[in-house]
Amino acid sequence: MQRRMDYAPVVTGNLRIAHYTDEHKTFDGIVIPTHRRVYRRNPDGTADKSVAVTTPAIDTIRLNLSRKANLMTTHQIRTLTWDTYVAPALPIASTDLPPGHNQATWSPISATLISGERDAVLVDPLMTTEQGQTLADWVAASGKNLTTVYVTHGHGDHWFGLAVIRERFPNVRAVATRGVVEYMRRQASPQSLASFWNPLLPGQIPQGLAVADPLDGSSFELEGYELVPVEVGHTDTDNTTVLHVPAIGLVVAGDVAYNDVHVYLAESDRVKRQEWIRALDTIESLHPEAVVAGHKRAGRADDPSIVEETRQYIRDVDRIAETAQTAREMYDEVLAVYPDRVNPGALWLSAKALKG
Ligand SMILES: [Zn+2]
Repeated sequence: MQRRMDYAPVVTGNLRIAHYTDEHKTFDGIVIPTHRRVYRRNPDGTADKSVAVTTPAIDTIRLNLSRKANLMTTHQIRTLTWDTYVAPALPIASTDLPPGHNQATWSPISATLISGERDAVLVDPLMTTEQGQTLADWVAASGKNLTTVYVTHGHGDHWFGLAVIRERFPNVRAVATRGVVEYMRRQASPQSLASFWNPLLPGQIPQGLAVADPLDGSSFELEGYELVPVEVGHTDTDNTTVLHVPAIGLVVAGDVAYNDVHVYLAESDRVKRQEWIRALDTIESLHPEAVVAGHKRAGRADDPSIVEETRQYIRDVDRIAETAQTAREMYDEVLAVYPDRVNPGALWLSAKALKG
């Protein structure tokens, strides 16, 4: 049992009392003792445990927002909050159209702001100049002081917008794991921009791309809370990570998990798809309360069930890839299983890469 000395209970009369709590449970990141005992104190200061003055117990606690706000003011318990912005699907200048479509699009992309009382950390600052500007406005509207940007993986669609964020928030630092920083360098190279990004998104990729700094150590902090990058290897590309925020049970998953958007498997083979499934197992082992996908249908909940949904999609692609003879066959068969996911164009790229 833990003795609490950090606050003074108000007691009617002039009993000297000792106050104990135990059976602590965590609700929404807040630790609450569900069992309390108050004993009369002996003249020497020790507790007289032969008879309890009062023994309140709480069997169940459900926190709603107003309750939580109340706890925060009365006990000065701080916690982190988070919010996600989803940039809508974007037309791209590709002539390689998925069957049945006359316009190729880039999948909707998410960015996540994790906030403390004053400061905030932004994860994955989007792709185009316009997306970066809208995101900067959204961050500014939060009223928080943006200290850090974290980048989950090297694909440019999740970080080219950093150039715009740096202009608006000049003191921000950008960090990523070493493997991600290397990948970012390659994505921002003149060859990569000239051969891939600029033709697809003419005039829309920000000028002055600057990569993140490699993170020192295995985590960083937001107002004393730990934010932990977890390296998970190959998922939709190499050297990917997720950001785990243990205090609030949050995993910002980058492109490890997809939320009702077609999964980009063009860089995978059988072995790499197994590695991706292990990465999803790793997310699950963190027992998150929320998982934010890098590509999600706007408005859909960031529910941990997307981990299994993504695993199942990969298993389905694995199975269909065994028998499908052509890209078109593969596309049609996966689409029959997932007729409503956002952006069949991503499936078309996967099918073409896997079946030629
Ligand atoms: Zn992506």
